[in-house]
Amino acid sequence: MKAFHCDVCGSLAFFENVHCLKCDNSLGFLPDLIDLSTIQPAPDGLWRALTPNAHNHLYRQCANGQQHEICNWMIPVEDPNPFCTACRLNTVIPDLTISNHRELWHQMEVAKRRMVYTLLRLGLSTEGTSNHNRAPLRFRFMTDASGGPPVMTGHDEGVITINIAEAEPAERERRRVHLREPFRTLLGHMRHEIAHYYWGELVEHPQHLDRFRELFGDERQDYKTSLQNYYQHGAPADWQLRHVSAYATAHPWEDWAETSAHYFHIVDTVETAGSFGVTLKPRHPEAQSMTADPNSIAKLNSSFDRILGNWFPLTYAFNELNRGMGLPDLYPFVLSNPAIEKLRFVHEILRSRQL
Ligand SMILES: [Zn+2]
Ligand SMILES: [Zn+2]
Ligand SMILES: [Zn+2]
Repeated sequence: MKAFHCDVCGSLAFFENVHCLKCDNSLGFLPDLIDLSTIQPAPDGLWRALTPNAHNHLYRQCANGQQHEICNWMIPVEDPNPFCTACRLNTVIPDLTISNHRELWHQMEVAKRRMVYTLLRLGLSTEGTSNHNRAPLRFRFMTDASGGPPVMTGHDEGVITINIAEAEPAERERRRVHLREPFRTLLGHMRHEIAHYYWGELVEHPQHLDRFRELFGDERQDYKTSLQNYYQHGAPADWQLRHVSAYATAHPWEDWAETSAHYFHIVDTVETAGSFGVTLKPRHPEAQSMTADPNSIAKLNSSFDRILGNWFPLTYAFNELNRGMGLPDLYPFVLSNPAIEKLRFVHEILRSRQL
């Protein structure tokens, strides 16, 4: 995530902000330019974007921002859709007459927009493609109906179903402990499910599929049986020797989704550190391998080794900062070589699309 700035006073502004905290001008995110901009009221309820790249273009506020105050994304005036690029992906939203649903949905949308930001940065389309047989990406935000079966979070043929119960921190923590995960986040869910969505388009090609099976295993093994096995017996005790997470052992598709989500975590956080000008220069002469200058990385254009070479020192420093606050580690993982090779595979596939 880039660091953003108010176009009027230059103050730092954050992705979710709707007002500049210093000069109080309104802010909106422009998905067409992938930029947060200061916006000023224009006639007919429109807004003029002040970021120089917008060239004074007019925008409308997303309907979910106007009606429910849960979205700060803008729509170019010539686009007739009342919803922004991220919100128009929704087909089902929770029943907002129930008291806490708006807040739970809001938390989900915050995570979703960060994930969509990554898709925009990577140039991944959310509309279907006929040549890869990919359905358009859609979201259903649901809740358990009393007496009915529980809503399972997951992806099926382009539709990502999310149970908003997990936006409740206590419930998410309960599930994390139950499943013995080091961390469990809404953004992690979003990145995991989106990786399932793009598997066919990104991996299902003769030039990638053999390598995929070498690294991740044969995805033709029965998916349902594999998951049942996982939930019955758990992960093998030595899962850390090959996988980024225990759940990644459930099936090669789950390994792909877990690995890709992990990759998105890394590249987004490295971008954020670089954008804030974070550099690491440990004082001890023997600690030269601990230096990092993430600002020097041009995301996908850099080699994967270069990204990791900056990432690991950052994680050591951030983990220690968190410990200084008595918080859990920011990055509670140790990556094995096979897991790194899978991450490299994700990187190379995404990079090959961009060249
Ligand atoms: Zn300002
Ligand atoms: Zn929106
Ligand atoms: Zn999955």
